[in-house]
Amino acid sequence: MLVMAVNAGSSSLKYKLYKMPEEEVLCGGLAERIGHDDAIFKIKFGGNEDKQVLPIPDHKEAVRLLIEALKGHGIIKNLEDIEVVSHRVVQGGPYYSHSVVFDDSAEEKIKELIPLDPLHAPAHLIGYHAFKEYLPHALATAVFDTAYHQTMEKEDYLFPIPLEYAEKFKCRRFGAHGTSHQYLIEKAIRDYFGGKAEGTKIICCHLGSGASITAAKNGKCVATSMGLTPLGGIMMGTRCGDIDPSVCNYLADCLKVDSDAVYDILNKKSGLLGISGVSNDSRDVEEADWAGNENAHLASKLFARRTADFIGQYFVRLGGVDLIIFSAGIGENSSYFRKLILEDILEALGLDIDEKKNETYIRGKEGLISTPDSKVRVAVIPTDEEVMLARDGYKIKIKEGKL
Ligand code: ADP
Repeated sequence: MLVMAVNAGSSSLKYKLYKMPEEEVLCGGLAERIGHDDAIFKIKFGGNEDKQVLPIPDHKEAVRLLIEALKGHGIIKNLEDIEVVSHRVVQGGPYYSHSVVFDDSAEEKIKELIPLDPLHAPAHLIGYHAFKEYLPHALATAVFDTAYHQTMEKEDYLFPIPLEYAEKFKCRRFGAHGTSHQYLIEKAIRDYFGGKAEGTKIICCHLGSGASITAAKNGKCVATSMGLTPLGGIMMGTRCGDIDPSVCNYLADCLKVDSDAVYDILNKKSGLLGISGVSNDSRDVEEADWAGNENAHLASKLFARRTADFIGQYFVRLGGVDLIIFSAGIGENSSYFRKLILEDILEALGLDIDEKKNETYIRGKEGLISTPDSKVRVAVIPTDEEVMLARDGYKIKIKEGKL
């Protein structure tokens, strides 16, 4: 069975075609700068790559180009072979604790949640309709980035604001990156705990340009750092993470701007970029730090400290920890950022790190970077959100077939 995993953003559409249940990737790629005359369409298949720069006015055109490419390159024989299109949806609100068929009722709920995710939700719906038009026979499924976090208890997901507002406006912690955390935690349980989730205490650090930390007990999420939106939690590339909420009013007064302008600063001009003044990309910050830029050094240290603080908090929340996972762009590739974070938690957690492994476990290399003497194991695991889309889409299709 062929399953298309889709991540539709506001001006991009990423895709990967899987043969399931083998999880074999037949092709993958993306359309970016959708809406521009110099948009880019890329497809990679069997060691080949094709890239075109052309006008892509909308997502529908991007899907049409994809279908053409699939046929043109002989990747599929019949469009009917694609039996499932599995869509990533960032915000599932309180409604979804697992993936579902993407039908009219799911569309209604996603529409209702647009105020919680005005950036992504409309794009997901556009992507859904674009694929429905070209692959009307295929079952559409929705995989929510918030679903994995739905096992949190009220004490973990509520903010101490008037309860009435929390309930009426769904103003609470939903978290994000759930698909990645779930993939990593499930994989860690298979690889490091013999497949037995019972009794496991894992802290999972997804450190990309967006970053979040999840605490999982028995394989289930008990706490996660992102909040109502992906602005909360640890410091990120351009986002501030958790701060004293009074900063918003105070900055608005100081700068004589409205709350939207402050929100923009906290979302787009803060984090690594805001402190370093160099870049939101950890590689640039690291380079500047090595070259002696003091603010870049401060940004690196601050990022590490905020991450370490959450690890400490989750150590307590879990009543201990067996395994810490590093993943995503920074977690998988930056031995420097990992080192800074680990230095901050080393003593309290009784860690013993193999420096050489920390240096060399980058660019997809996976394994433990802690020594056998370490009280807590530390692993680098590359994430794979797309395969989770394919897995869930496949599972739902099989289940539907049996009904
Ligand atoms: P997202 O999916 O949130 O855009 P990624 O997980 O792709 O983020 O991570 C992107 C970030 O990871 C980059 O901004 C950069 O800071 C960091 N990164 C990516 N590759 C490397 C690398 N080879 N070395 C160090 N940092 C990297």
